[in-house]
Amino acid sequence: MMKACSLSPEAAEAGARGDMDEKRTLPAPQRQRLYRLMCRIYEVLNSSDWRVRLTRLESDEAACRRYGIPVNSVGTIDEVLRETPEIVVDFRKDIIPILVHECLHVIYEDLPEEDILSLERFVIDHMTPLQAKRVLQLASCALV
Ligand SMILES: [Zn+2]
Repeated sequence: MMKACSLSPEAAEAGARGDMDEKRTLPAPQRQRLYRLMCRIYEVLNSSDWRVRLTRLESDEAACRRYGIPVNSVGTIDEVLRETPEIVVDFRKDIIPILVHECLHVIYEDLPEEDILSLERFVIDHMTPLQAKRVLQLASCALV
């Protein structure tokens, strides 16, 4: 089910393709890879399955205990404790990389942390401003 503030399919498609005015520096296969990853990330944020919660995590022991994560964490996904799974983000940190990182955990459930980190690096290093804007727009629609 789509949420009320979802992007139109055309807008989502344009966002996944990226800003057409951006100078293309990535080789075609990498560009395809980025495009596919962005589509998946938008799907997660645009689905009614996942919500986004902003909170203090790092240095907040109680919050980290609540989510069952280490005290220095800046984001997590919580699909166990709640009926509605949540992407939890420490709003004092870099929100876009954290959102991308946690969405990648949702997409690739069993991928080890190091591989998620390297995918996150790839996305963050190559995404266009328009793609970053879409991530923020969709995440803000998913806020609880
Ligand atoms: Zn992680």
